Amino acid sequence: MAIYKLPYSDLNQLFAAIAANEKLYLPVDISEDEAAFRLWKEGDQMTKKLNTLRSAKDFFFPQVQPLAKFRRQGQTIEIMDDRTESEDFVIFGARACDVRSFDVLDRVFLEEPVDTQYQTRRQHSTVVSLACGRPGETCFCGSFGIDAAKAGGDVQAWHDGDNFYLEPLTDKGVKLIDSVSSLLTAGDQEAVDQVVEKIHTILARLPLAGLKPQDLRDKELETFNSPKWDELSSHCIGCGSCTFVCPTCQCFDIEDFKNGENVERYRCWDSCMYNEFTMMAAGTPRKTQKERFRQRFMHKLVYYPIKNDGMYSCVGCGRCLRKCPIQMNIVKVMKALEEEA
Ligand code: SF4
Ligand code: SF4
Repeated sequence: MAIYKLPYSDLNQLFAAIAANEKLYLPVDISEDEAAFRLWKEGDQMTKKLNTLRSAKDFFFPQVQPLAKFRRQGQTIEIMDDRTESEDFVIFGARACDVRSFDVLDRVFLEEPVDTQYQTRRQHSTVVSLACGRPGETCFCGSFGIDAAKAGGDVQAWHDGDNFYLEPLTDKGVKLIDSVSSLLTAGDQEAVDQVVEKIHTILARLPLAGLKPQDLRDKELETFNSPKWDELSSHCIGCGSCTFVCPTCQCFDIEDFKNGENVERYRCWDSCMYNEFTMMAAGTPRKTQKERFRQRFMHKLVYYPIKNDGMYSCVGCGRCLRKCPIQMNIVKVMKALEEEA
């Protein structure tokens, strides 16, 4: 599709024009080391950091989400659906890994029975991705066939320091670009190709550039019974940090809270690394940290690909590499399983 150009110095005008029509979320600095998506307001600058601490999955699958309210009146119980996710919104600056994570989550939440809360949020969103000008040492999205230089979404964007380039990829993307067309001029493919080439050169030199996941779909039992899990899980403290920063982790719990005569039902993220995860009256099916640890990685590298034509449920964002307090992560698991093979 056509490519459009905006001088980098006019970026704030672009944000203001988008925000005049719908809510705009942008990654901004929240501390010296971290960035997060926030509702844009005049004066906010887009972060120069590579990625946000928490992924963009929060927009579609928030950490805490009200599901319904129940009101008791005498002998009857009224069910109130007070969903409010009907506003259109734009996520600007999502990286390629996070954009792919939406595909991973779609295959879970949009399968029958469809999760209508998730579906509504997806329908009302427009995703503007941003190519990673400087991919980091913990990035390995390329291992899963993701191109950090062509991030996808409804509109994909690049910048070369002087200009911002935007290419709409979907009808929603075309609509967004049309709404801000007075700020844009025709961009040239050659300038974008140069940015892409530079990014590809950096990607090829990253420490994890050669990492490739094994296809373990026909080795499910063998992988499950691997002696490697003992060693890999031995120091895991079950803190759940890896699951909370992960853009593809999708486990949740549902809890009811009494509020006077009403009961409010919420869903909140859960973690397969927690010892009470999937706790039932008869106890938990995974009694040891090794079993819980193994579940997380078997799901990402074996169970999910079995159910989804070989697609992995890791996007190589590297967040778990940066956040695990014991420096354990999916890269070490992939390498250990490969070593064994
Ligand atoms: S497992 Fe780690 S690297 Fe893979 S998507 Fe989740 S946080 Fe990112
Ligand atoms: S972040 Fe590290 S220690 Fe915490 S649950 Fe995950 S693997 Fe275990």
